[in-house]
Amino acid sequence: MKLVLRGLERIAIEPTAALEAKTGMTRLFVRYCGICRTDAKMWHEGHRDLVFPRVPGHELLAEDEEGRAFTVWPGRVCGHCRYCTGGRENLCESMQIMGFHFDGGFSHTVLAPTESLIPVPAASPTIRFASPNRWAASSMPWKPSTCKRVNRYWFSAAAPSA
Ligand SMILES: [Zn+2]
Ligand SMILES: [Zn+2]
Repeated sequence: MKLVLRGLERIAIEPTAALEAKTGMTRLFVRYCGICRTDAKMWHEGHRDLVFPRVPGHELLAEDEEGRAFTVWPGRVCGHCRYCTGGRENLCESMQIMGFHFDGGFSHTVLAPTESLIPVPAASPTIRFASPNRWAASSMPWKPSTCKRVNRYWFSAAAPSA
């Protein structure tokens, strides 16, 4: 099943079509997908890059066919513009973002850019990994290919007690 935004404040639960991995994209099975403020904005106001219908969700923890856990760097960049070559790919003018330009993680299965997968250590508390309200995984400032580790952030008002 998947959640599909069909318009402002219009969401539907629909069956998930059988997704097949394709060149450059890996099929993942979503375990958790956090709701971030951007998702709330998309729900209420839309987004400059959002075209309906769309499966939102870009803060996810998912597993591949072998059960390896990943989070996904949600941006997909061109790799050759002045921002990309200058190490500021988060400003890429051709940025494609999971959940806006292509379907995201509010779905049992998702196709994610293979180059954007970031392995999650097996010992990590996976349910918190995809929960932006408590403990979010974020790697936006780094290219996945150079990301040495996943950085975790938590917000003091809702920091986990353990
Ligand atoms: Zn977010
Ligand atoms: Zn670029």
